[in-house]
Formats: sequence, C-alpha cells, structure tokens
Amino acid sequence: MSINQIEFQKKLLEFIDVCNDGYAILTADDKLLGCNQSFADIFYQDHRSILGIHFDDLMRRSFEERKGIRIEAEDINLWLQQAHQRRRQNPFRIFEVDLIDGRWFLMSEQLLASGEILLQAKEITKQKVLEDQLHSRVATLSELALTDELTKIANRRCFVESTNTELGRCQRLNLPSALLLLDLDFFKSVNDLYGHQAGDEVLKATANRLKKALREYDIFGRIGGEEFAVFLSETSPQTALQVAERVRSLLANYPIKAGPVELCITVSIGIALCKGDSTFEDLYNQADSALYAAKRNGRNRAELYKLSSED
Ligand code: GH3
Ligand code: MG
Ligand code: MG
Repeated sequence: MSINQIEFQKKLLEFIDVCNDGYAILTADDKLLGCNQSFADIFYQDHRSILGIHFDDLMRRSFEERKGIRIEAEDINLWLQQAHQRRRQNPFRIFEVDLIDGRWFLMSEQLLASGEILLQAKEITKQKVLEDQLHSRVATLSELALTDELTKIANRRCFVESTNTELGRCQRLNLPSALLLLDLDFFKSVNDLYGHQAGDEVLKATANRLKKALREYDIFGRIGGEEFAVFLSETSPQTALQVAERVRSLLANYPIKAGPVELCITVSIGIALCKGDSTFEDLYNQADSALYAAKRNGRNRAELYKLSSED
C-alpha cells in the first residue's frame, strides 16, 4: 500500500470518528466489530462499551431500557425474528428508524461478500418533522374541502360525490335507495327575530340532532344555507318514509336552544325514490319538486315525489 493510501485511510478513520453520521460494522455472526460515537449515541452508549455486542443484545437493550430504537412490539423475540427475515437478504438495504427520544435516522446497510455488514446512520429528524407537518396540512386541507365549516358535517361537494358513488353501488346490486331534501321552514324569520348568530346556532344544533337520528352509513350533508340532504342506501320506500317522518317530528317536537332562547324549528322534506337507472340529478330534481309541494301544502311535512306527477 502506498504512503498516500495509508495516509488516506488514516484520515478516513479520523473523519469517521468525528462525523455526525453513525458508522458501524457487524461481523458475519452479527457482532459489533466497531462503530463511531455518533452510532453509539443512537443507543445512548459509549462506543467502547458496546464493542463485540451481538445485534440481538443491542436491540434487546434498547427494548428493555427504552433507550435508542423505538421497538413497538409485545414480544422482543418475535420482533427479532421478523427483523432477521428482512436482514441479509440483499446486498444493499435502506430503511428509516425512529428513536424513543423522537429522533429519526435513515439507515443504509451494505452487505459484503464476507458476510460483514457496514451500517450508516444519517439523522433525518428535521425532514421527518417537515414531512409530518406537510401531511397534516394536506389532511386538514382535504378535510376543509369536504366539510361544512359551520356544522362540521359533509358539505355539498362531499355529499354529491359520496351519494353518486353509493347510488351507483345500489343500482349495480339492484338495491332500493332514496334521496331526502330538507329545508328549514321560515328560517329567514329566525335570523330576523333573533339575529344571524342565533340562526347559526340553530343550524349547528339541527345538524347534530339529525346526524344522531340517522344510521352510521346514511349520507348526510349541508347542501345550502338552511338546506340539508340525506341519501338512504339499501332502504325500502316504506323505510324512507319512516325516516323522513322521524326526522320531521324530531325537529318539530323538541325545541332547539340558540343562546338564551329556545326555538321551535320545523322542516319540510322532499323524498325521491331511486327507480331503475335514475341519475343523481334526476333524483335531486324529483326530491326538489316534492319539497316544493311540501312547502306549498303547509310546511312541517314530508312529501313523496310520485312518478305519475312527472311533467
Ligand atoms: P321557507 O319556509 O320557504 O323555506 O322559508 P325560509 O325563510 O326558510 O326560506 P328562504 O330561502 O327565504 O330563507 C332562507 C334563509 O336562510 C335566508 C338566509 O338568511 C338564511 N341562511 C342561509 N344560510 C345561513 C347561514 O349560514 N346562517 C344563518 N344564520 N342563516 C342562513
Ligand atoms: Mg331554502
Ligand atoms: Mg327554508
């Protein structure tokens, strides 16, 4: 070996000693041949004290002392068994690990022909924090795009999209379904008499009450100012009428609290039953015309759209 090369290797070792990245070599029988202090820091150990330790014992120490790598397992032996199934399968492997103290590392594992493993650990905590923030921002944005801000139920867009999907499924399976359009009666007078804020409280309380009265899988949304809609999948016409009546009486029979006042709120409901291959627009128009009839016939009532009344 030339003087230059010896000098280079000496320097390389000096650099590794002070490097922020962790380096370690494991022997073919999985014992720690050596590592720098940055690697030992992952496990809160002194690099001299873990020389010769077996990979399994290093992991067991992490697990038992809750220092170092976060091991989410009930049984460490089972965890080690699974870890060994992934290790030494390919000449090169890269993976992320998180530590109990919240740090994250990108690990790369190079398997040499001799069976030895060179491990490099690069801290990526900052990137992971940014990634997390980005993910939760995306989640919040998609939730905002689908949720009505005032009542926290589905907004019009979410209601229409979900209903279209569910309507398609019901039609494919030949299952009955129904669309209910709900419009609060004389709601303008609530705002006029008690103020817009009281009106908002009524809308929130109404949404809450209706949500509790519906089944988990009914699709329920606020599709306009004081207008709500419910899509009842796998529901017979008779049940759809019963649900509409239950919803109507649930509002009419129990006043709603809006700040200091209790208000008697009623709702008019238009019902359309899905027949054959009706589109969402067909159903919507039919339910809307039934709703118009409910208003015309005195409000606080549900009307069913009858195909014979089609114009
Ligand atoms: P009808 O029985 O014919 O439905 O009478 P209405 O007064 O309910 O109907 P109209 O469509 O004339 O009025 C609806 C009112 O709902 C008008 C609007 O001020 C009110 N509104 C719409 N969105 C909101 C909202 O987000 N908050 C509040 N407080 N009021 C709203
Ligand atoms: Mg209206
Ligand atoms: Mg109204």
